[in-house]
Amino acid sequence: MAMINTVLGPVSSDELGVTLMHEHIVSAQPGWECDALAVPYDREAIAKVCVEALEEAKAYGVKSLVDAAPNDLHRDVALDKMVSERSGINIICATGLYHEAGGKPSYLNFRSRIFDTTTEIYETFMKEITQGIGDTEVKAGVIKVATGDRQISVYEERVLRAAARAQRESGVPIITHTEAGTMGPEQADLLISEGADPKRIMIGHIGGNANLQYHTSVLEKGVYIAFDQLGVEAFFPDTLRKACIIGLIGVGYANRIMLSHDHSAYRLGRSTEWPDFVRALMPNWSYAHVFKNIIPALKQAGVSDEKVNTMMVENPRRLFAGE
Ligand SMILES: [Zn+2]
Repeated sequence: MAMINTVLGPVSSDELGVTLMHEHIVSAQPGWECDALAVPYDREAIAKVCVEALEEAKAYGVKSLVDAAPNDLHRDVALDKMVSERSGINIICATGLYHEAGGKPSYLNFRSRIFDTTTEIYETFMKEITQGIGDTEVKAGVIKVATGDRQISVYEERVLRAAARAQRESGVPIITHTEAGTMGPEQADLLISEGADPKRIMIGHIGGNANLQYHTSVLEKGVYIAFDQLGVEAFFPDTLRKACIIGLIGVGYANRIMLSHDHSAYRLGRSTEWPDFVRALMPNWSYAHVFKNIIPALKQAGVSDEKVNTMMVENPRRLFAGE
């Protein structure tokens, strides 16, 4: 058993229950705040939308979710607290940094000319894990890191090394973003080489390709993998993701796979919802799609209730406990 930092305080890993390991409460790309016509930020209104959007997942038994927003993608722990209090769902928030092309690397890249920023990033992660985020008392429960398309930049390597050090010291798990289904094995190698425990690493967005050889090459590192963009069919079809999940379960990997959506109930910027043509490309994307559509398809293919429970309850618990 391990104690996990949620936005409302520590929870035992045995109490997590059905857990979505990679979701968002709100999503935003850095720069939205420069749009003069962006919808003004109204935390109360956003909380209402998010709580409503979580109702369906709650009805399917979801007890916990990870808000995977790192420090540079509009992480709002006050909002997470409101949503957790009102929905009754445990929310675990992250410390971390996004990939160089999508995040806010300027400050650290500038400081890197003068200072050891790997150490500075590690100190940021540890401050947020052990003391809390900003002046809130909310402590981060996961470390989120990311790499780019077919490459790990110098900046991203510093972030990954800092994350490995913070994980080694705190025991808090690392969850990752991979871009376009690339660099999963390289992420695992880099983190492990810096002393991270593979049992506390979840390599994310693994379903960005349908290459089973790629998937098993990540699994061979002893880490967890996450098909955590289920329903995001604008990038990749769920049919292929389901085929991969069923195949990997069939050869004995149910104890290494997590399922999630990378969903967000609200978008920041000029419009707070996706336009119709995007919705049409991914009609099933929600916090409940795994339960409504994916798990029934897995069962039809012969996946047992026990293996579903392994993926949705046991694997998240073991990732946090380092088992
Ligand atoms: Zn995400």
